[in-house]
Amino acid sequence: MKFATKAIHAGVHPDPATGAIMTPIYQTSTYVQEGVGNHKGYEYSRTLNPTRHALEKNIAAIENGKHGACFGSGLAAIDCVIKMLNPGDEVISTNDLYGGSYRIFNTIFAKYGIVFHFVDMQDPANVQALVNDNTKLIWVETPTNPMMNIIDIEAMAQIAKKANALLCVDNTFATPYLQNPLDLGADFVMHSVTKYLGGHSDVVMGALVCNDDELATEMYRIQNSSGAVTAPMDSFLVLRGIKTLHLRVQRHCENGAQIANYLQQHPKVAKVYWPGFESHPNHEVAKKQMRGFGGMISFTLKGDRLEDALSFVQNVEIFALAESLGGVESLIGHPATMTHASIPKEVREQSGVVDSLIRLSVGIEDAQDLIEDLEKALAAL
Ligand SMILES: *Cc1c(COP(=O)(O)O)cnc(C)c1O
Repeated sequence: MKFATKAIHAGVHPDPATGAIMTPIYQTSTYVQEGVGNHKGYEYSRTLNPTRHALEKNIAAIENGKHGACFGSGLAAIDCVIKMLNPGDEVISTNDLYGGSYRIFNTIFAKYGIVFHFVDMQDPANVQALVNDNTKLIWVETPTNPMMNIIDIEAMAQIAKKANALLCVDNTFATPYLQNPLDLGADFVMHSVTKYLGGHSDVVMGALVCNDDELATEMYRIQNSSGAVTAPMDSFLVLRGIKTLHLRVQRHCENGAQIANYLQQHPKVAKVYWPGFESHPNHEVAKKQMRGFGGMISFTLKGDRLEDALSFVQNVEIFALAESLGGVESLIGHPATMTHASIPKEVREQSGVVDSLIRLSVGIEDAQDLIEDLEKALAAL
């Protein structure tokens, strides 16, 4: 089955009791058993809930995976992967990482004896140089947030395989419509479902997908044991969101291309970060592993003044100043003071998160309206 058909049909069936075409919101914590151990596959909703179950099957299908698990947030999904490790194990991750991922690695799991390395993964040799017998996980985010760097997933899979380590790819920015890490050799794909999969800025949720049966057993054991599961109502909303994922992402890509090109030629803009440009340092890798370049764009202003960036993000009207991304509405953010505020200034500036860096999550409104909005705010500087 092709993507659009899976997005709409995978995992969902008309309700056997009523014929309802939409999966009901099974707002229940428990399930009546006919006799001890004699049940219909559901015992308790932390372990499994029918609405969540339908969504888990749907997300697994659109990531070309066998097993899916949904969590109370993207960070809860990350938490599950790191809990597969033991004290002394080492993780290699990118130095241009979502701030919350950096925070859970460094302030939660480091104190349990797990060792994290952060490195520029655009050159696979940097990753290879850190591999040792304790390396158990390579954690990739591509495109990266907010610098839109592209990391070669197949190259990372080769390094991971040789090192006998797991490879997990945070696929939040690309979405399964544009990129499928499991097909490129990853063991796990992770999503902040909050973003494009949900797509309507109304749910916080995370997901993991894998193919290996043993890894799946471990994933479900931790999901059930740690208990960071997602609710039936939220599962319903995301099932509904995913039905239009392909249409939304197509438009995000079209609008993203128009806005990236507009910014690129603007005299007040210093640099535009978007993997669709032929001049992007890893454009060839992006073309190889992605089917489109998305609607996430970062750029800096000439002069690199903090006050210019702060007034710009307030002067736009259609773009809403907010954390998060991936919804139908356009958002604007200032990484240095918002999403990446938890990363020390010296560390963030090394990876390009300077004071005037602005990040756009281009929505699916009319592209011309969005460009006029940016034009007015740039003119006001
Ligand atoms: C938002 C985000 C996360 C965290 O997900 P939550 O749903 O906010 O917990 C992880 N990775 C990336 C790339 C994100 O954008």
